[in-house]
Amino acid sequence: MEIFVVEDFKCPNCDNMVSASFSSSKFNKNTFDYGNMGVRYEYEVDSFPLQCTVCSHQFTVSGSFWEYPEGAFETSDLKVD
Ligand SMILES: [Zn+2]
Repeated sequence: MEIFVVEDFKCPNCDNMVSASFSSSKFNKNTFDYGNMGVRYEYEVDSFPLQCTVCSHQFTVSGSFWEYPEGAFETSDLKVD
């Protein structure tokens, strides 16, 4: 199932908060099958490009976000590279 995650990241240049949205279908997926507990998915974000809306500084974020239970956003550890 497609999930969408929206997170804010602080621009490394001017500290403005930049909003980014991630759709799960665009990222590499790792599957963890917990049997009766269902399936958990990890989506790997590698150097996803963002541009600050205030100073136009370009930067990237990397990390992972997780879907668990299926169809629901669980958590993420995305951060500025
Ligand atoms: Zn900025």
